[in-house]
Amino acid sequence: MRIVVKVGTSTIAHPTGRLNIRHVDQLVRVMADLKNAGHELILVSSGAIGMGVGKLNLKTRPDDIPSKQAAAAVGQCELMYTYDKLFGSYNHTVGQMLITSEDIEDENRRTNFENTMNRLLELGAIPVINENDTTSTSEIRVGDNDTLGAIVAKATGADILILLSDIDGLYDDNPSVNPDAVLIRQVDEITEEITAMAGGAGSEFGTGGMATKIAAARMVTEIGCDMVIINGNNPERMYDAIEGTVLGTRFSGCK
Ligand code: GLU
Repeated sequence: MRIVVKVGTSTIAHPTGRLNIRHVDQLVRVMADLKNAGHELILVSSGAIGMGVGKLNLKTRPDDIPSKQAAAAVGQCELMYTYDKLFGSYNHTVGQMLITSEDIEDENRRTNFENTMNRLLELGAIPVINENDTTSTSEIRVGDNDTLGAIVAKATGADILILLSDIDGLYDDNPSVNPDAVLIRQVDEITEEITAMAGGAGSEFGTGGMATKIAAARMVTEIGCDMVIINGNNPERMYDAIEGTVLGTRFSGCK
């Protein structure tokens, strides 16, 4: 299987902006094991800004663009250093790709991006992708990594997109407000009712919410790719996700 894993800032980093070692260790271990089993893996990782905030000892996530971009420049190094070291310890090689929406919208640039990503896979490396936050400003932003994950899954013809989030999956109501909210395990069709279940809120450090996840599901299921949302506090659930039993929400691709 060709598997795209998108991991959110809330999984990678503690609220302090410092690395969540337990989560990242498990994430890399499971991905390395899936690769050893013969699957192809691509990682779309958030966390550059959040980790930069931690590393620069900023009290909160900054609001102004230059500070966010400076934080991303620092945090992206920390992220890649960590992935290179941890995947390297399982004898796997990573390659960093940082992109902006211009790389997707311009046909030539998109072709280059896809060629590089596919060649990395042929060479047995694990592409690690993020938005180029140091140069993207609002006009040229992809926006959020749920969307970027869907773009990557489409471009590579992936079989499954796994979103590791700070929530167990899609609920029929906001679970932080309504304790009786029910987790939806399977979505075969993205109806208006399903879209209405998605609120807009994300965590302090991340940018995505449930609405961006539903939009991502819409993009990938169209090409027959499944999408699964699972809680990033237990990356071992990725095994269940690819075996078809999900402890979160599965959106079935239109086959
Ligand atoms: N590119 C952002 C970062 O690495 C995250 C965007 C997102 O999580 O949607 O901080």
